Amino acid sequence: MSGFPGKLRAVFFDMDGVLYDSMNNHAITWVNSFKKLGVDFKPEEAYMNEGRTGDGTITLTFKKYLNREATEEEKEAVYREKVALMNERPPAEIFPRMQELVDKLRISGIKCFVVTGSRQPSLLGKLNRDFGFESDNIVSGHDVLKGKPHPEPYLIALEKSGYEKDEVLVIENAPLGIQSAKCAGLYTIAINSGILDDEVLVKAGADELCHTSEELSEILLNTAQQVGEYE
Ligand code: MG
Repeated sequence: MSGFPGKLRAVFFDMDGVLYDSMNNHAITWVNSFKKLGVDFKPEEAYMNEGRTGDGTITLTFKKYLNREATEEEKEAVYREKVALMNERPPAEIFPRMQELVDKLRISGIKCFVVTGSRQPSLLGKLNRDFGFESDNIVSGHDVLKGKPHPEPYLIALEKSGYEKDEVLVIENAPLGIQSAKCAGLYTIAINSGILDDEVLVKAGADELCHTSEELSEILLNTAQQVGEYE
């Protein structure tokens, strides 16, 4: 059971590392994209920067390792390499029970949304095919000016949902995603599906923490059931 204090109406799911086991692909491809520039980008940094736009991650990495700004051409080149390497990776698996969880929440009358910084061209088709998400229920990198950790993505989702802040719960795996949701004033459950220490997610402001999609599913379905019993 979640400690969620309100009456649950909607769940906002982050995508990478929450719905799909995709963060390993992102970490490997970031590491290899920067390697061409002689930059020893670490896998943990991919997890720490997750949620940021590609542009933002490249800008910060240039400053950190090369002590200078990246030019627009360099940013584009690194990002192009990242996308090309991602296309060579095996497709990410859906985390166990997540499809079933989304279905069951919908049956309980709880609306489900995806809030992701991703700008993958095939995103809509994939989320629709795998989870039945329609474009009305997705906020992607195309919809925002400021990526996570800015609250904008979650505030846009809140507006799309039509619900109040205390009727919505966020599921995030990344520190910047948790910060974004908390800055938007939303209750946030962290799922530590990656390689960071729990403490990093707790310090980012997570209200609760779990470690597997099975555990997450149980928490959310119990919370949904509790809401149903009140009505
Ligand atoms: Mg994520």
